[in-house]
Amino acid sequence: MTDLPPDPQDWDAFRRAAHDLLDRCLTRLENAADHPWQPVPEEVRAGYAIGPAQGDETALARRLASEVMPYATGNTHPRFFGWVHGSGLATGLMSEMVAATMNANVGGRDHGAVYMERAVIDWARGVFGFPEGASGILVTGTSQATVIALQAARVRALGPEMRRTGQGAARLTAYAGASVHSSTAKALELLGVGTENLRQIPDGARGMDMGALRAAIAADRAAGAQPFALVGTAGAVDTGQFDDLDALADVAVDEGLWLHVDGAFGAWVVLAGDDLAALAHGIGRADSLACDFHKWMYVPYDCGLALIRDEAAHRAAFAVRPSYLEGQDRGLAGGDPWFCDYGIDLSRGNRALKVWSALTTYGPERLGAAIARNCAQARLMGDLVSGQSHMALLAPVVSNLCVFTADTWLDPAAQSALNRRIAQDLQLSGQAVFSTTDIGGVTGLRAAIVNHRTTKADIHTAIAAVAQARGT
Ligand SMILES: *Cc1c(COP(=O)(O)O)cnc(C)c1O
Repeated sequence: MTDLPPDPQDWDAFRRAAHDLLDRCLTRLENAADHPWQPVPEEVRAGYAIGPAQGDETALARRLASEVMPYATGNTHPRFFGWVHGSGLATGLMSEMVAATMNANVGGRDHGAVYMERAVIDWARGVFGFPEGASGILVTGTSQATVIALQAARVRALGPEMRRTGQGAARLTAYAGASVHSSTAKALELLGVGTENLRQIPDGARGMDMGALRAAIAADRAAGAQPFALVGTAGAVDTGQFDDLDALADVAVDEGLWLHVDGAFGAWVVLAGDDLAALAHGIGRADSLACDFHKWMYVPYDCGLALIRDEAAHRAAFAVRPSYLEGQDRGLAGGDPWFCDYGIDLSRGNRALKVWSALTTYGPERLGAAIARNCAQARLMGDLVSGQSHMALLAPVVSNLCVFTADTWLDPAAQSALNRRIAQDLQLSGQAVFSTTDIGGVTGLRAAIVNHRTTKADIHTAIAAVAQARGT
């Protein structure tokens, strides 16, 4: 067998197996409501170990359908509200199929996927109100987008020389709200800034307290530090709250800081009508934005976006082209600028296609309406919780998150234990997936609704299941 190239030897058989597998995929997607998360049985897990090759794609298709597909995270199910997991659009199935067929490397050069990614970025630039000429890149997710954005900020603060010399003795400091996502801390660790130099500013009336922020910046300057970046949150992961981005932009201008916005899911309220879009007012004034298509734009994993206002600053932080990657004005080595000059990766997959497919099929209006519905569902969940005598919200419903406790009459430790138990019971029974989070000393049930398959009825069902699991 070893002299045969790793390719189908019988294309007719391959075609039949692939068609059959496609049908199974379609059936599963169409009936997503019948497929909640389920634990992976021990024997299935053991079977994943790499054994002798079967040499036959028909066998592969069978295994994919029976041993792989059933054991997903469950976030395609309409009552999956855990963490912030996007639900995945059916258009993704078509685009991933074509992307795998094309096998494009979108690091650069002159081919369709490059232009498609530019089109997606240009669309996002317009939606968020970034100026013409702003640059961007599709990445794995907001975590990587944050590294890219803060590296651009750091190179701007210290000058392009720092790429050669390193950061030296400069003590850079960054500022963010109390509820900033851990990915910002991780990015600062990776960049050698260090989390000791991340100031977490307490909340005021609306997100970060501006007085406390200005005082912290002044104290750092007085102590010889170099404030360089301010990170605003559009949609906090615990509660869905928003910093006042307009006020942050004012501070950034006054203090000469790079304003970065973590809008992983929340940034997309810009599509959801005026009331919700108002939460993110000022987002277009940021120097950079990190957000995800794979959360609240429902596009399959993975796809995030780093958007940078100043293309020159973006390029200055990442461009490096050894001679073997030299561009040409004609032929395949054309197509400047290349995405490898705007991010970490040289070889890159075709993430744009699944986004482009969603945008060109459903359009921002339908996607925005789904986002608005998710917010209405979070409000409905909040109302249902408030309507139960023993349940209570742990935080106001601002956008698409609802965090609550199933029994406010118990002491905090007992409430936390109960809420954890309910989350686990409902996950295991396949009724609904809530995650948990700590708010004011209580571990509560948390629903982050970024699911285009969720209906009002699902919200009623989920809260009824919580009430039942509590033992009422
Ligand atoms: C999910 C999330 C992140 C991290 O994004 P990934 O796409 O998972 O890397 C950052 N910030 C917030 C607010 C998030 O919800």
